[in-house]
Amino acid sequence: MIRRQVGVFGGTFDPIHLGHLAAAEDAAARLALDTVLFVPNRIPPHKHHRRVSSAEDRVRMVELAIADNPLFQLSLAELTRDGPSYTLDTMRQLRAELGAEADLCFLTGCDSLSALHTWHHPHELLAEFTLAILDRPTNSPIDWAAVEAHFPDIRRQVRVIPIPLLQVSAEELRLRVHEGRPIRYYVLPAVESYIRQNTLYRSR
Ligand code: ATP
Repeated sequence: MIRRQVGVFGGTFDPIHLGHLAAAEDAAARLALDTVLFVPNRIPPHKHHRRVSSAEDRVRMVELAIADNPLFQLSLAELTRDGPSYTLDTMRQLRAELGAEADLCFLTGCDSLSALHTWHHPHELLAEFTLAILDRPTNSPIDWAAVEAHFPDIRRQVRVIPIPLLQVSAEELRLRVHEGRPIRYYVLPAVESYIRQNTLYRSR
């Protein structure tokens, strides 16, 4: 039986930008993924230091951004589940939804690795699923020794996908819109139109 390889890419996606899309495409190529599932995070309003766009807006922007890529799909796994959105629960839910013939791999940025020990049941997550780290050349390279203090076998447990640095962040894009500066060429045109039409990020 040919197993289906599925990457799971979670994020706030407020907004989804070219850094996310290029990273997901590179990960798909490197890991021979059949599908990348974009999973917008559920953000409880009181849990965040800034105003996060509605789930509806973030979902719509993801839909617009991934529409022309047959590898990319949207998953509402976290948005349709109450309670805290633990990655382990999301991955188990997706495994149940996708069936036994799918191999699931969780994709995350290199910044997450240093905080892995603070996640919900990280050992179970590592035991049950492949973790792929999107390693971009930022100012703070992965401190493997620090990660190994919590997870001695971590280097054998994760796949590291080197990706080039696209200097774009959602935070910077929100600031640009707020200040009336351009975001063209940092997000797909359909996402830019959505942001304009729905006057997202004007106020802070
Ligand atoms: P913010 O600036 O609001 O924190 P973000 O884009 O850093 O937004 P998310 O939308 O939650 O944050 O990111 C989802 C995932 O995409 C994370 O794993 C993050 O590390 C990764 N990511 C964010 N920006 C880039 C980029 N420029 N290139 C590659 N991966 C990225």
